Amino acid sequence: MTVDSAKLIEIIEAMADKITENREYLTQLDSAIGDADHGINMSKGFRAVVGKISGMAEKDCGAILKTVGMTLVSNVGGASGPLYGTAFMRAGQAVAGKTALDFNDLISVLEAALEGIKDRGKAEKGEKTIVDALEPAVEALKMHREEGSRVALREAVEAARRGMEYTKEILARKGRASYLGERSVGHQDPGATSSYIMLEALTARLLE
Ligand code: ADP
Ligand code: MG
Ligand code: MG
Repeated sequence: MTVDSAKLIEIIEAMADKITENREYLTQLDSAIGDADHGINMSKGFRAVVGKISGMAEKDCGAILKTVGMTLVSNVGGASGPLYGTAFMRAGQAVAGKTALDFNDLISVLEAALEGIKDRGKAEKGEKTIVDALEPAVEALKMHREEGSRVALREAVEAARRGMEYTKEILARKGRASYLGERSVGHQDPGATSSYIMLEALTARLLE
């Protein structure tokens, strides 16, 4: 697989479409254990992102990802803005200057994104956050790297889905939902869900 700048823009636009389609769903999840704004926050951020990157096909992939990150930081209120913003900015740094990404670059991008989120939010797996969907996906990509991108991408999105589902079982230890303690159990985490949705959009575009 190869992702050039034009394709990267298409992928990010596909993520934006999926986030917008799931705006009510994400907000509904956040109403159970947060402040009912995750879908609103994310769709507002991605609307701004689409406006910023549409003319960037001549720029390198690193610059595009960095722009996505900076746009999310400045347009998304709430915890998810700086977290996803940092993720995309770190992703951009990982492939700075590259006009095309191969499968190993894609793994580096997602690894850097995960590290960015963990550095910024200090969450580990099992605390009912974005990390619970993203980390299993990165692990699956690395574990199945030798089997080729198609197999690895399918495994990654499946791992993210399982991680997202697992957030229903566990107690929130980071972010707003952690104020609920035991009452957060039984509800799926909004941020793990938006991460899954973005990974799903990414892999769908890469596997088609
Ligand atoms: P806010 O909670 O400020 O309203 P959002 O509703 O947009 O922000 O985002 C909430 C999501 O952010 C949570 O569902 C969770 O997945 C994620 N989150 C919160 N804190 C952290 C953290 N420290 N690390 C990783 N993800 C986090
Ligand atoms: Mg919220
Ligand atoms: Mg909020």
